[in-house]
Amino acid sequence: MNNNIAIIGAGPAGAMLAAKLASNAKKVRLFDPRAPWEKPCGGMLGSDAFDAHPELQDYPFPVMHCHAMVYVSPRNERTRVPAQKAIPVISRLDLSRYLLDMAQNSNAAFIPQKVLDISRNLAGWSIKTKDDVYQADLIVGADGVNSVVRKATIGNFPEQHLSLTCGYILTGVPEGQYVTKFLDIAGYIWIFSRANHASAGIGAAFGTVSGKDLFEKLHGFLTEIYPGFRIKTKYSALIAAVADERFFDRPCSGDDWLLVGEAAGHVDPVSGEGIHYALGSAKAAAQAISADEIHTYEDLWRDQYQERLQRGAAFKQNLLNMAREFGPEIIGAMMYARSVRNIADAG
Ligand SMILES: Cc1cc2nc3c(=O)[nH]c(=O)nc-3n(C[C@H](O)[C@H](O)[C@H](O)COP(=O)(O)OP(=O)(O)OC[C@H]3O[C@@H](n4cnc5c(N)ncnc54)[C@H](O)[C@@H]3O)c2cc1C
Repeated sequence: MNNNIAIIGAGPAGAMLAAKLASNAKKVRLFDPRAPWEKPCGGMLGSDAFDAHPELQDYPFPVMHCHAMVYVSPRNERTRVPAQKAIPVISRLDLSRYLLDMAQNSNAAFIPQKVLDISRNLAGWSIKTKDDVYQADLIVGADGVNSVVRKATIGNFPEQHLSLTCGYILTGVPEGQYVTKFLDIAGYIWIFSRANHASAGIGAAFGTVSGKDLFEKLHGFLTEIYPGFRIKTKYSALIAAVADERFFDRPCSGDDWLLVGEAAGHVDPVSGEGIHYALGSAKAAAQAISADEIHTYEDLWRDQYQERLQRGAAFKQNLLNMAREFGPEIIGAMMYARSVRNIADAG
């Protein structure tokens, strides 16, 4: 029986899992040196996020809504695609505060420290931070793309399943801006308005474009369309972007460990959206751990969304194969065509 649980990472996956387990009387320690924080992210939730996750019903912070996305082709053709249902957009700092409060109010012990190392011993897991060593029966990797738990169990993400992103939190962008600009590289730019600021970023398959070039492309596009923009903060970050559907056949749990959210690779391989999957995997893990049947986690997350992730990975792989044959320009053209075709399909 797992009563002493360590969750590494208090992002959406870790904080949600901690809240669920602690309210089921499990002893939970939740480690994170940064939470609550503005994690690099667009902040766009799925249109059904508030229905799919009733835990967000009392969310007290501002939520903006995207009613239409403007897609810009590599040749600068523009198409405005109305959303079938308004898509909520939030600040990650607000979401982080909300979920961490939920975990702490459920009696999860929050330890604001970075986990430096984990190792197995006779009693379970030993978890080392700068100040202390903790013991746990069960360890959960909710520590995102650079997961230490993933590294110690099934190994780091191979580079072919990563994208490099660079971005800004901005002011000086008008309200209601939801723009995706496709480029002549294996990636694209997005700009999402939030309450009081905007999040703008650019991402591309890892190893195909340097961070410097990504920032130049992002800066150039922003200067063209919002000449008065001002940068509040700047980041570069990796994101899991799986490019082989077989990746999702492999297990992401064992007898005394689990990976949830982005640490498991559960991010839409094309759009990069991962908050919904982080929350979904946390709830699947909570159900499996609370029932003391960890092995059921695999079926629980797969039933929810494995097929969707596999479809995305197959599309991504196809794009990268085409780019190898015809050059990276084909990717922007195909993604633009796919986004715009969705309106015709919906109509
Ligand atoms: C640029 C960018 C834009 C994105 N835009 C969107 C979007 O618009 N919509 C969307 O749905 N998704 C988006 N995503 C993906 C989304 O951010 C992630 O999929 C989601 O945050 C995953 O949640 P998580 O809880 O699994 O991991 P994370 O949110 O990454 O949280 C992991 C936590 O673990 C902590 N941590 C890491 N290492 C350690 C350690 N050693 N010890 C202790 N704590 C540790 C970190 O501080 C962090 O708080 C974007 C990602 C990027 C990079």
